[in-house]
Amino acid sequence: MPWKSRWTIPIPTQSLPSYLFDSPTIPLDDKPLLIDAEFPEYYLTQHTYREWSKRFALGLQQNGFKPGDRLLLYSGNTIFFPVILLGTIMAGGIFTGANPTYVARELAYQLKDSGATFLITSESSLKTALDAANSTGFPKDRVYVSDAGFSTLESKPESSVQGTAHFSNLVAPSASSFRWPEFSDQAQMNTTCVLNYSSGTTGVPKGVEITHLNYIANCAQTEYMSSLAPDYESLVKQARGLSFLPMYHAYGQTHHCVSSAKKGIPVYRITSLTLVPPIAVALTKRPEVKDFDISSVTSAGCGAAPLGRESAEDFDRTVAKGAWQLRQGWGMTEITCSAIGFDPTSSFVSGAVGELNPNIEGCIVDEDGKEVGLEERGEFWVRGPNVMKGYWRKPEATAETMTPDRWLKTGDIAYRDKDGLIYIVDRKKELIKVKGNQVAPAELESLLLDHPAVQDAAVVGVVINGEELPRAYVAIQPSHAGNFVTKELASWLAERVAPHKRLAGGVVVTDTIPKNSSGKILRKVLRERAKEEVGDR
Ligand code: AMP
Repeated sequence: MPWKSRWTIPIPTQSLPSYLFDSPTIPLDDKPLLIDAEFPEYYLTQHTYREWSKRFALGLQQNGFKPGDRLLLYSGNTIFFPVILLGTIMAGGIFTGANPTYVARELAYQLKDSGATFLITSESSLKTALDAANSTGFPKDRVYVSDAGFSTLESKPESSVQGTAHFSNLVAPSASSFRWPEFSDQAQMNTTCVLNYSSGTTGVPKGVEITHLNYIANCAQTEYMSSLAPDYESLVKQARGLSFLPMYHAYGQTHHCVSSAKKGIPVYRITSLTLVPPIAVALTKRPEVKDFDISSVTSAGCGAAPLGRESAEDFDRTVAKGAWQLRQGWGMTEITCSAIGFDPTSSFVSGAVGELNPNIEGCIVDEDGKEVGLEERGEFWVRGPNVMKGYWRKPEATAETMTPDRWLKTGDIAYRDKDGLIYIVDRKKELIKVKGNQVAPAELESLLLDHPAVQDAAVVGVVINGEELPRAYVAIQPSHAGNFVTKELASWLAERVAPHKRLAGGVVVTDTIPKNSSGKILRKVLRERAKEEVGDR
């Protein structure tokens, strides 16, 4: 039998903007909430977060944006990021964020796949954005440029950069009578509001449809878990976070644009850290860390990729200095952000990622979909109100990943102990995670096949110095056999992908790519081979 979380909590029936801000008019807190690290004079409070978002929503509507339309933001973190996210949702639209390190080809894919009709970018990324727009026939007058400062928003610069309009043109001068759509039933709450891109268990990146219900449920679940701490009230009052995780990704977006804003946790002079494994390791190992006073930090969570037991213990010793413990959690774009965490009143167990959050069911199954017993390994399935609606316009991929009764097949191999704690031990899916970022082997393979010397290709993850990296196996066209240079192929690919997708795990020439009778790449065989070749360093 699948097992259930120990807790069931009510999920309010309302829209995401109402969940965050109560109503469009109620007075809100005016304490700084999100502060720009570079220009601290620019900050958002709960009040200004809502007001800017309303003005942006109204401005979008005045420029022809309709409910269900998609807006793509191609930018690093700025304090406008949450405003653009929430404003798009307040206008009844769907927000999608693209990795700011994407090259034009990658951005063009997301632009086309999402069917976005508005594209916002920063000046530094404009060239790439325009190249992507050109290649997909996206109209230039729907490309808007933003910058970091609020002042330019008020003054509306006249001149345009390369024929594009300034983002301030999408911000209405006032929005006092603006109202976002309110929901009164579950069907309305199932309205999609965000597309976060993920390759899931197989294939190329797909738009993960996150609904208002998903977002509210996931925030309520994690807030409930934190609220179990006996000193929760005072912890929240003192809590401060640091927002360096990218907000285009589910992890950073949920924590910094939604969850922290809901709790009113300002993002400066920090008490808690939201980490991914390479940053946790860097904090442990980098010598300069000891030159900084980080004693204000009293808690840290880590997710997005596996963190070895040894690294977690190193962190506890050197960063937390034995006073507190790094807590791992497990998450996935397809479940909004997270589904497993630690009850703060129970003791932390190194190696485990925690237990099921409220309203979540779990199940661990073998290759035939049959449930396995306690302590036995199998694929982890999850079900709950924070599980995505499906993949955007990809019903087949959705059906492959979700059962008809809405179990999400995570592609992660896990086991559960007698206390309900879950241990993630391996990955069944193709996905490679480089510093917490997704790399879809299918995308790299299809690019490699475009190279004239490559007859066949497969990409798998290999762990080198504790970090997972993409490694390509290529079979060479006989006509190129004499003059093929693996380094050249790696550089050729590097020009076509964001830096984290480069073949930093190596390129290996092989006679054939191992495949099963239906032509599927035997990735496990290649992963084992890669491990042997580089050693599990
Ligand atoms: P993403 O959708 O980019 O958040 O990636 C989700 C995947 O990251 C999961 O399915 C896991 O394979 C991996 N992942 C996330 N958190 C952990 C963790 N704590 N331990 C091991 N793998 C993790």
